[in-house]
Amino acid sequence: DHPLSAVDPEVATAVGAELGRQQNTLEMIASENFAPQAVLQAQGSVLTNKYAEGYPGKRYYGGCEHVDVVEQVAIDRVKDLFGADYANVQPHSGAQANAAAMFALLKPGDTIIGLDLAHGGHLTHGMRINFSGKLYNVAAYTVSDDTHRVDMDEVARLAREHKPQLIIAGWSAYPRQLDFARFRAIADEVGAYLMVDMAHFAGLVAAGLHPNPLPHAHVVTTTTHKTLGGPRGGVILSGDTEFAKKLNSAVFPGQQGGPLEHVIAGKAVAFKIAAGEAFAERQRRTVEGARILAERLQADDAREVGVRLVSGGTDVHLVLVDLRDAELNGQQAEDRLHEIGITVNRNAVPNDPRPPMVTSGLRIGTPALATRGFGSGEFTEIADVIAEALQPGFDEATSAELRARVEALATKHPLYPNLIGGF
Ligand code: PLP
Repeated sequence: DHPLSAVDPEVATAVGAELGRQQNTLEMIASENFAPQAVLQAQGSVLTNKYAEGYPGKRYYGGCEHVDVVEQVAIDRVKDLFGADYANVQPHSGAQANAAAMFALLKPGDTIIGLDLAHGGHLTHGMRINFSGKLYNVAAYTVSDDTHRVDMDEVARLAREHKPQLIIAGWSAYPRQLDFARFRAIADEVGAYLMVDMAHFAGLVAAGLHPNPLPHAHVVTTTTHKTLGGPRGGVILSGDTEFAKKLNSAVFPGQQGGPLEHVIAGKAVAFKIAAGEAFAERQRRTVEGARILAERLQADDAREVGVRLVSGGTDVHLVLVDLRDAELNGQQAEDRLHEIGITVNRNAVPNDPRPPMVTSGLRIGTPALATRGFGSGEFTEIADVIAEALQPGFDEATSAELRARVEALATKHPLYPNLIGGF
């Protein structure tokens, strides 16, 4: 039993370097966060050794008495957190949760309606070469050209025309809230199920800062590692036990084999943390930070160089910068921020004229920095650094100055001070 550094220095060095990257740069990818040390410990535990096919109390393997405790605690906590009557904490990821939920509710060849990938939807909501686009007929809704908001009249029109079996509400890149009640009314009108994928905004829901989809949707899916701040993984929830059997058997044996009980332990810890006041306070700083970014990135100096925001602002934890009228494309802007120590991802804007590998936008999120301790002062400073980086005339001197300001913020809010080499 030797440590990783002795068994495999190559991997140990890369893990250590990744810790350094996370500590020394500012993470603004909207789907990322920093799991607390307690979650890292649960995930790095001996629970990884255990096979536990089945569910607590009904396993196909012996020796499950302790993992049963862990999984039941995770189920109970996530039900409490979101006011659900049913929870499955086994999906290995958000994509697996969506695949299982659709497997439970649909037959191959059924029709689904989801937000177009190019307008902020997720791959699993019907993208052509994803399982969802291959197994089901897809009619995608879009955001409107002028407001950049989901056009509910278009959703209703598409639903009446295509008679889907499932409507999906949820997004990966959309700075506003969705009208779940209206989605449900449309689903009821055409006899479809409503699935809400709250992967991005689940942490805001847990903190009471975003409407809860549970009362409206037949099924809700989420990831646990974005705003929720837990380990990488997925969950399926429902406000009703009507679908329990179908959903459970769609996850196991439908889509997966043995559950990752070490990750489920991490989920349990994350749900406990998410029920506390410190978590709610962090989510408030997250939303406030995004609002500050929106304000500063629409100030006169930014507007003058063609920087715009999709929908003109935000109600959530991210902004979508529209660079169609700016000097830089999405790729160049991502690279420029990377150069000064800020990590973001380029992202298509609605009706983007550039290809997906280039794009004309940036998605910038605040969850990870809020976890690091950023408040309104730090978010104002980082917003100004980003706005300056997007100005024309960026040269070596500007780069060095902005990089120093980024480093000062990183130093002010140290990350994982107790971790050595990433553990
Ligand atoms: N659903 C939404 C809305 C997402 O944004 C994502 C991830 O980006 C997923 C599902 C998939 O999650 P995972 O990457 O864990 O499969």
